[in-house]
Amino acid sequence: MLCITCKTGKTKKGKSVITLQKSGAIFVIKNVPAQVCRQCREAYFSSEITAKIQDFATKLTGLGIETAVINFEKIAD
Ligand SMILES: [Zn+2]
Repeated sequence: MLCITCKTGKTKKGKSVITLQKSGAIFVIKNVPAQVCRQCREAYFSSEITAKIQDFATKLTGLGIETAVINFEKIAD
C-alpha cells in the first residue's frame, strides 16, 4: 500500500514497536507485525493486532501492572 503519512513511500511487511498508554499505564510491545513505509518508516498495524494488544494491556492493568515491555511473538497465538 501507499504510505498515508509521506504519500510517496510504499509499505512492506516488517515489524515495529508500539507504545501504548492505558489509564496511566505504559506498555511497550516489540516485534509487532506491521506494514512499514520504506521511506519514512511509519508503521501500520491491522485492527486484529491492535485489538489483541488492547486486550493484553487490559489484562495487565487488571493485575496492577503499570509498565512492561512485551514481546508480541510470545503473546501471539
Ligand atoms: Zn511514508
